[in-house]
Amino acid sequence: MNKFIFVSGGVCSSLGKGVAASSLGALLECRGLNVRMVKCDPYINVDAGTMNPYQHGEVYVTDDGAETDLDLGNYARFTNSPLYRANSITTGQIYDSVLRKEREGRYLGRCVQVIPHITDEIKCRILAALDQDTDVVIVEIGGTVGDIESIPFLEAARQFIHEYGKENALSVHLTLIPEVGESELKTKPTQHSVKAMQEMGIQPDILICRAPVPLDEAMRKKIALFTNVETEAVFTSYNVNTTIYAVPLMFYDQKMDQIALKKLGVASRHSDLKPWRKVMEEFEARRGKVRIGVVGKYMELHDAYKSVYEALFHAGLEAHVEVELVKVDSSRLEDPSAVDGILGESADGGGVDGILVPGGFGQRGVNGMINAAQWARVHKAPYLGICLGMQIMVIDWGRNVLGFKDADSTEFDQNAKHPVVDLLEEQVDVKDYGGTMRLGKSESVAVEGSLIFAAYKEKRIWERHRHRYEFSNRYRADMSASGLKLTAFTPDGSLVECVEWPDHPWGLGVQFHPEFKSKPTSANPLFRDFIAAVRDRKAGG
Ligand code: GLN
Repeated sequence: MNKFIFVSGGVCSSLGKGVAASSLGALLECRGLNVRMVKCDPYINVDAGTMNPYQHGEVYVTDDGAETDLDLGNYARFTNSPLYRANSITTGQIYDSVLRKEREGRYLGRCVQVIPHITDEIKCRILAALDQDTDVVIVEIGGTVGDIESIPFLEAARQFIHEYGKENALSVHLTLIPEVGESELKTKPTQHSVKAMQEMGIQPDILICRAPVPLDEAMRKKIALFTNVETEAVFTSYNVNTTIYAVPLMFYDQKMDQIALKKLGVASRHSDLKPWRKVMEEFEARRGKVRIGVVGKYMELHDAYKSVYEALFHAGLEAHVEVELVKVDSSRLEDPSAVDGILGESADGGGVDGILVPGGFGQRGVNGMINAAQWARVHKAPYLGICLGMQIMVIDWGRNVLGFKDADSTEFDQNAKHPVVDLLEEQVDVKDYGGTMRLGKSESVAVEGSLIFAAYKEKRIWERHRHRYEFSNRYRADMSASGLKLTAFTPDGSLVECVEWPDHPWGLGVQFHPEFKSKPTSANPLFRDFIAAVRDRKAGG
């Protein structure tokens, strides 16, 4: 069975298209279907790897080392779709490969055009994400209908629907129902958005209306009348004050998956919603709260550390506590005398119970992160360091335990006298920025008796990487002799993948990114143990 669902958006961005597409995918999986998720991004960057997190949010990394849009993180959290390079398509990649083929003379002298060459390339790339077991492919088209950039992707979707037939390819369109004045809901932008789709030659089969409250029957009928969509296929994605993981059940209650399958001619099948019901039960069962200081440099933008925040939430579900995020801009911690006032317990109940330093690049704010790590080490507050957050632990140890005052990473000081974190050997001659880091899944071997071993409950750990710098092997002897525990390595022993603090309840840093594989239905083991340690330490006083 090969069925296609194209998810587009209208009216404005940030309506939760990724969550909507993923939630539909999750529901189809609950009915035993094999779902594949694909994201089309209309930007001309070849991938998200070189984009500024301020503008674009987090870069999500796949097993095979693709640096992709953060929506792939949503797919990973909601569905079991395999996610590889092929699941993330950008305009940049499409043009890159068409231009290469043109230079190789593969168009046999023809004039190379958006239609059919660009659209054919898009269609080929979408089909490349399918495998033998695929039942349904959900293709999310980034941007908003009406944007110049997304036209070739919508045109490719139109051709798909035309070629495969309505019974095999659906259009799901997400729009906004704004509230104007005294709780008056307005359907006009939705009508215009569907018109814009129709002008592209696509009649949406399903509408998901983002609205503050569930739309009543009369409103859905009105939308149906104006848009040629059946009333039963007009759904609401309304605001929930619980969690985004409530969305699959919200859609299920409106029979979205049932109607999508009916339209695709797939016989009704039993739905097993246990995993999603369990997530909501765990959510309701949370007792008490822990405050986690996330110390980084893109704190105003929630999306910049999206997978980290989600993984903390997942860990809270398993530990039965609410995780409150305390986002601390590390530049505020650069003055050592300010640190205790910001992180320590204060009369107004401020302060944090644990610290997480996430991944990052560049010098700005690094000294604040080092102060945060030192604070957690000395005050015995649980600490989880991810990638840069691990390198920060190493620099703190170098400076404040070994007494190498100018210990640093060569990323921040090329001439550091004690380069305790240094460029990976393979990176020395790398000149290009895009796609050239140590990227993707690789194996780490944990030392028995360590925190990391206790978390994963096995020696062999597979997680994803994205970095150029590493723990410098020149300092291995000094670091271990002074007590820093080196607790995971690459299988050949050449790179340090995990460090842990001695005489500390739970202080650990990993060179990889455990957040990418965390799910609400199974938190990543390191996040789970970190939050459990924070909870237990708080309970113990
Ligand atoms: N900037 C550091 C490096 O390149 C850390 C990267 C990261 O945190 N992802 O090694």
